[in-house]
Amino acid sequence: MNIPASLSAVMSARHVRRRLPLPEDVTKHLLDLSSLCWCAEDRVVEEFVMEQPIPPYLFAFAVGELEFREVGPRTRVYAESADVEVLDAAEVEFAGAEEMIRQGEKLFGEYDWERFDLLVLPPSFPYGGMENPRMVFLTPTVIKGDASGGQVVAHELAHSWTGNLITNVNNEHFWLNEGFTTYAERRIVEVVQGADIATLNMGIGWRGLKDEMERFKDNLECTKLKNNQQGVDPDDVYSQVPYEKGFQFVLRIERQVGRTAFDEFLKKYIATFKFKSIDTDTFLEFLKANIPGIEKEINLELWTEGVGIPEDAYEPVSTIYTKIISLAEEFKQGKMPSEDEVAEWKGQEWELYLENLPKSCEPSQVIALDKRYRLAESKDYEVKVSFLQLAISSKCREYHGEVEKTLKTVGRIKYLRPLFNALAQSGGTEEKQLAKQVFAEARETYHPIAQGVVESILSKYI
Ligand SMILES: [Zn+2]
Repeated sequence: MNIPASLSAVMSARHVRRRLPLPEDVTKHLLDLSSLCWCAEDRVVEEFVMEQPIPPYLFAFAVGELEFREVGPRTRVYAESADVEVLDAAEVEFAGAEEMIRQGEKLFGEYDWERFDLLVLPPSFPYGGMENPRMVFLTPTVIKGDASGGQVVAHELAHSWTGNLITNVNNEHFWLNEGFTTYAERRIVEVVQGADIATLNMGIGWRGLKDEMERFKDNLECTKLKNNQQGVDPDDVYSQVPYEKGFQFVLRIERQVGRTAFDEFLKKYIATFKFKSIDTDTFLEFLKANIPGIEKEINLELWTEGVGIPEDAYEPVSTIYTKIISLAEEFKQGKMPSEDEVAEWKGQEWELYLENLPKSCEPSQVIALDKRYRLAESKDYEVKVSFLQLAISSKCREYHGEVEKTLKTVGRIKYLRPLFNALAQSGGTEEKQLAKQVFAEARETYHPIAQGVVESILSKYI
């Protein structure tokens, strides 16, 4: 890559060296971004090589004024050098990366990609993370200051085995990537952060899956694991279904055969298909061959080709989970959780609580909740956005300023979608007006995929 000497480059490949440009670079390097300027004095060439085969969607690079910190023997975190605060915070947040890699290796086999570096991108990055091998991309919103951002890192790391090693052959089998990765992520979280946190994540996922069933009630094809995407833009049907229903299916098999047998099966599955792309049928054949009789115990066809959530799916239970759900129920009767009850809560507990409240509540109750617990100002965007969504739907218009600020600060689709949806579907003229105005002003700061998502929400409801 031929780049200005003041910048540096990172890539989902092994870095070989940084050197001065040579005349032959013009013809030799097809990837050269600016070969016309190859000979300028203020340019350098960054050389990369990728020895492992990868599908094209995992090819990624970034060029910028980058700096890094070492956080482990296989891990550096990179961020823009202008943003020292982000770099400092990322160093702390992701300090546990090496421990996660080791746990992942114990569960799923050797880590095949040598490096596990992380790049924190500007806020316009539309996703939570992208699992590019050797160089994971992350949104700055995963840095929460309490190491809970580790969950997204656990997810991207889990892709090193499920997704990057075994890849779905096309988007109709996306669950093979994301369902297995969500399962693997929670196994890593269980070891590193404890079973209660893993169950909480499962609970948040379960809630999200039920919401998706509501979202797709007129488009049931999207609730199938293996689905028909002929003529469909994958961005339009992107949802939690492949993640959470896929997770439920993998967990269903684990529950059937027991963890020890399933762990063995998983290692064998990964070793058999590594560096290959497969479809759902290939997986099912392998499953039936290695766990004889499984098709008599689990309705495999219903799970992979049926709509909705099968009855033998697993609604998570844990003391914290049950407690939070019952506190959310009490809120409907006008009772707020006491300070004692929430003393131990971090972002995930609040997120689960807020997501289990009714879509809209009595405005005075919503305001009182925020007065006591300062949710609209939370540094954790999961909490902040869940609360603002509730505030919008409950017509608490004093939060419109905060909503506008949030929509103009982050471009992560996970936050844009619920906020714009809440504004557009609230039925209020003021809310619709705000949605239109903010999008007109913030549009250019959003990634093109995020722009498309917001556009389709606005055109549907406004
Ligand atoms: Zn993923």
